[in-house]
Amino acid sequence: MAKKEQIHGIIIIGGGIAAYTAALYTARADLKPIILCGIEPDQLSLTTLVENWPGFKDGIQGPELIQNTKKQAEKFGAKCIQEAAESFNIKKGYFEIKAGNETFKTRTLIIATGASAKKLSIPGENKYFGRGISTCAVCDAALYRNKNAIVVGGGDSAMEESLALYKFAKKVTIIHRRNEFRASKIMQDRIFKLKNKINIIRDSEVTEVLGNGKLVTGIKVKNLKTEKISEIKTDGVFLAIGHTPNTGIFKKKINLDKHGYIVTDKFSNTSIPGIYAAGDVQDPIFKQAITSAGAGCQAALQAEKYLEKRS
Ligand code: NAP
Repeated sequence: MAKKEQIHGIIIIGGGIAAYTAALYTARADLKPIILCGIEPDQLSLTTLVENWPGFKDGIQGPELIQNTKKQAEKFGAKCIQEAAESFNIKKGYFEIKAGNETFKTRTLIIATGASAKKLSIPGENKYFGRGISTCAVCDAALYRNKNAIVVGGGDSAMEESLALYKFAKKVTIIHRRNEFRASKIMQDRIFKLKNKINIIRDSEVTEVLGNGKLVTGIKVKNLKTEKISEIKTDGVFLAIGHTPNTGIFKKKINLDKHGYIVTDKFSNTSIPGIYAAGDVQDPIFKQAITSAGAGCQAALQAEKYLEKRS
């Protein structure tokens, strides 16, 4: 029978720690999971040292952690297909996913598509994206050796981006819309200790990205207390203002919350029996690698149970 007619037991969509943990568990249960592992890098691939993953007293590099987990799943029979899911449909007795040139059919599905970096939606942003505007300092910091860089945001990501940048840049300036930071205390402390190298502008928002037609040259920033708008010269703008869940293809087919996150119960069940969700795509609160991995494990065990009951 042609490959397209095959109905798989389980398909996992995503290429992050939730997806590979789900793959590891379902592969060890001999369910031969297919992972549509996408084309965009996951969060761990874009980070450096992960210090809060249990078991590594000196931390572990994010890319190493994710690659090891992927290989671990593959060792037990998981198959990774480097395609992104483009459409999804609920059929009678199975689910259908289109990815690349193929249509996949599956009896259970684990959605672990993560969340993508948010943008500011201001003039100049689209024009200079990738030409001085970035959402990944870990990827691009080395390009800013002896240059000036702005980091926008007040959460852990903004702190982490700034810590990646200051080692290369001449000057890093964090611009945050409030006085208080959302970031964890330990990350804030690291930034505050570097006050000679990392400047902080509070209660302010970036209103425009300026450039010379080719590259970023500066920004306009508005002080939200005084309403004063000023210009700051910079070579780079790093956006670290949170993420949007990647749930576009599931809209109106699976219950989402008002921010677009997939709604799950404490067992990783979605509103559709046989479909589970794990990781940042269903977690607007914790968003940690370890909680994503835990959710991936739960989703895998639930999918296994579902298939067992119906075999
Ligand atoms: P976040 O915690 O949601 O913080 C986003 C920041 O961006 C907030 O300070 C927010 O301001 C600001 N912001 C949002 N929209 C904005 C806009 N339109 N204009 C200007 N500023 C805007 O996101 P995150 O920093 O990406 O962190 C997400 C999760 O990952 C958190 O749970 C975090 O702990 C975790 N994380 C952990 C680490 C680590 O432990 N090493 C590293 C990175 C991320 P307000 O504060 O005013 O809302």
